[in-house]
Amino acid sequence: MSVSKLVFAPLSYTGWGSLEQLVPEVKKYAPTKILVVTDPLLADIGLAKRVTDPLEENGFDVTLYTEVVPEPPLETGEKLVTFTREGKFELVIGVGGGSAMDLAKLAAVLASHEGPVADYLNLSGSKHIEHKGLPKILIPTTSGTGSEVTNISVLSLESTKDVVTHDHLLADVAIVDPELTVSVPPKVTAATGIDALIHAVEAYLSVNASPTSDGLALQAIRLIARSIRTAVKEGENKQARIDMSNGSYIAGLAFFNAGVAGVHALAYPLGGQFHISHGESNAVLLPYVMGYIRKSCTTRMADILNALGGNSAYLSDDQASYHCVEELVRLVKDVGIPQSLSEFNIPESALESLTQDGVKQKRLLARSPLPLGEEDIRKIYRSAFEGRIVEAE
Ligand code: NAD
Repeated sequence: MSVSKLVFAPLSYTGWGSLEQLVPEVKKYAPTKILVVTDPLLADIGLAKRVTDPLEENGFDVTLYTEVVPEPPLETGEKLVTFTREGKFELVIGVGGGSAMDLAKLAAVLASHEGPVADYLNLSGSKHIEHKGLPKILIPTTSGTGSEVTNISVLSLESTKDVVTHDHLLADVAIVDPELTVSVPPKVTAATGIDALIHAVEAYLSVNASPTSDGLALQAIRLIARSIRTAVKEGENKQARIDMSNGSYIAGLAFFNAGVAGVHALAYPLGGQFHISHGESNAVLLPYVMGYIRKSCTTRMADILNALGGNSAYLSDDQASYHCVEELVRLVKDVGIPQSLSEFNIPESALESLTQDGVKQKRLLARSPLPLGEEDIRKIYRSAFEGRIVEAE
């Protein structure tokens, strides 16, 4: 019998209005100085104030840092870590999408370490995280990354992405309040929502899946599949936002424990080289990676078809897995995400450099149910470029 290691963030609040738990939780740490990390847009539209106002009203000394940019480059991480070390803060709060939360957890942990962030990167770094650093509270404002419950911080490099990862990066408290996501525009709702769906799909197909992650992954797929179209079309729809919020949180728990695989491995170079958002770069590749690996995991894809709202009862696993891929194609299309790399204006000449960077993502590729080598990756990028699903031979 195989052994599964399961790790969860120690404390989460989920549900509409759960932001009210912030002040009582902060009080437990009695911090003298608090750093709140967010991005300029969230400061402009008043979402950051939803966090800072109640803290200030309760007498806390709060510094608001708004220099987060989407898909943050390494330099943005370096700058925030220096700021945090110099500021002598005692608690860090990240409020925003994955970009703000990833930087907040990184800053909280590296505040108690020496040297640049670059030294701690997974692929090229040489140092290891040793201390827990400052306590951290993460508050997502998108339904997508699951960063509030993972131990990963993603940074954009010149031509790809890399991560800093350690269990010390897990939030001490995650507050997942769907009310904070109502203002997310349709395009971001679509991209982040499909990102969450992919977390669940890849976790369910991962070679590291366990009965625990399976239950989480299938429930996340159900919630997201039934509500993503509505959330994109009617951002004010409360039930759709609640489903997406719960779905992305649960998908985060699933993929943190089972891992994501080929879609993410191939999306990293796309995001890194062409600055396509994390959600969109994953979404455009989803049908092509799933189509390519389909025959290696037909039974599991039949389960996914059912979770997506389909019915595999009268189908063979082979037929059901085929319908599963078709349903995923339909979903990506319905929420308005381009269907091929050429629609994103990726030139054909870039396919080889994407392949060379994709091959380097060994940590992710290792979890694919079908082992993906260089030639497989080359074929998948080409099929995504041409908009034509190709199956592994
Ligand atoms: P994001 O944080 O970059 O946000 C996208 C845009 O949406 C930004 O302009 C932001 O200001 C805006 N936005 C966020 N919340 C909003 C709201 N409530 N109302 C209006 N606008 C809002 O996007 P993301 O997809 O959440 O995060 C992407 C980052 O997360 C990438 O760097 C990616 O690599 C990383 N990521 C991390 C993990 C992890 O486990 N740590 C997992 C997946 C992705």
